[in-house]
Amino acid sequence: MKEHASASATAPPRTAPTRDPSAADAADLDASTRETLAELRRQLAEINNVDGALSLLDWDQATYMPRGGGPARARQLGSLGRIVHGLRTSPALADLLARLRPLEERLPPDAPEAALVREARRDFERASRVPTDLAAAFREHGAATFSAWMVARPANDFASMRPYLERTLELSRRYADLFPEHVHPIDALMEEHDRGTTLALVRSIFEPLKPELVALRRAIAARPAPDDSFLYRDYPAAAQLDFVREIVSTLGYDFERGRLDLTHHPFMTKTSLGDVRITTRVDERNVERALFSSIHECGHALYEQGIALDFEATPLAHGTSAAVHESQSRLWENLVGRSRPFWRHFFSSLAARFPEALGGVDAEAFYRAINKVEPSLVRVEADEVTYNLHVMIRFDLEVALLEGRLAIADLPDAWNARYRDDLGVEPPDDRLGVLQDVHWYSASIGGYFQSYTLGNVMSAQLFDAACAARPEIVPELESARFDALLGWLRENVHRHGAAVPPLELIERTTGKRLGIESFVRYLRTKFGDLYGV
Ligand code: ZN
Repeated sequence: MKEHASASATAPPRTAPTRDPSAADAADLDASTRETLAELRRQLAEINNVDGALSLLDWDQATYMPRGGGPARARQLGSLGRIVHGLRTSPALADLLARLRPLEERLPPDAPEAALVREARRDFERASRVPTDLAAAFREHGAATFSAWMVARPANDFASMRPYLERTLELSRRYADLFPEHVHPIDALMEEHDRGTTLALVRSIFEPLKPELVALRRAIAARPAPDDSFLYRDYPAAAQLDFVREIVSTLGYDFERGRLDLTHHPFMTKTSLGDVRITTRVDERNVERALFSSIHECGHALYEQGIALDFEATPLAHGTSAAVHESQSRLWENLVGRSRPFWRHFFSSLAARFPEALGGVDAEAFYRAINKVEPSLVRVEADEVTYNLHVMIRFDLEVALLEGRLAIADLPDAWNARYRDDLGVEPPDDRLGVLQDVHWYSASIGGYFQSYTLGNVMSAQLFDAACAARPEIVPELESARFDALLGWLRENVHRHGAAVPPLELIERTTGKRLGIESFVRYLRTKFGDLYGV
């Protein structure tokens, strides 16, 4: 998912509907309240319309826009950003929310109208704290930084990005300062994407998880590595894209309400519930890249395509948090897409498309190859065991930058040192080091990376709950039937959109608070079997 760090404060909810989102709680309301609610929905739709246009401009910038369009695109994003910020903080909206406060107090907290008003109010109150200039500066600076990064990354030119990042850090700190009720600046930044998530919560997950991952990585390193050389043979782009389309539509991605395009750094974005787009990147010498990034983005898109249509054009019409979003993408990418039953079904179709590259390879050898554990330099290509170590490095560096313990000038050295210590590898250049991820080069510093590991942890917890409720899920993977799994996710996660806050959603759907037990058990079982450890 592509984030907009720009202080967009899209409203996520405090509590949520346990009944069907379409239940007509408004039926008992008097005519004047109903009119006020209708006017609120109209104003929220205005905000949503401009947001959709902003998403389309972002998508275009990352797919088809010629480089010459960069400066004007930055101005366009800035202008629309100012317009949407004005709508988000308008006196008319303040007035409507004030008139609806008695209703909010009267309705049960899980009534759909209560969720809508509560979310609209949260969005309004957060946006109102952000001065228009700062919101626009974030957008314009984000777009300019992204354009510069597109040139600097292939050129391995961190020096040219330094002033951009220094400004990003300054803007990120100024943004965090607007929310002094948060204990730590990163809490204020995380609230934007992962509401309710604090530094203390992240540490309570990361600290026990890190030794587990390091121990597993070490045990695996002592075992023979599987042969994965055939993953890097010739895989013509057209056939790769063809296979990717087959896979994502079989998983349930609806091409009538989406499309797949090429980009540099794959992402999912949507302009409405009827237009949820995914992107990918093809490497003709690597069969994994397009395949797994597409399944990943498809997982994000299945979430958005599964949101109750009644929520369209309201603050409830998006995933409830970045971490829950990531739980969906990683569930499909890893727990499904890198599973043995999945490849028992799909390997023959893949091998038929690439007879030369995969001659003499069978489904089991392919399964072992795509699950090879090996410390590497690039997060998005990391295996499931080491992936979260990449995330923890970024998160710790962000915290250090925000606390002023680390300067941007020293970031590449700090990055490389952590890779040496935690993963035992050292980037030969910044292109494969500190320049690799889009996040710091398009948005804020702080607020996002934690969602990847929280999402992985959630994905295993949700998958356990799904399989307990629907035992046919795993057997069905082998015949490429995903109805039971997708159905459970639709019912328990997707349809609620942003109407249930993330940590509450996890607790409600799994019967447990967020914890690392399912994830650790999943990794130990899968990689224990693969490596005999
Ligand atoms: Zn993702």
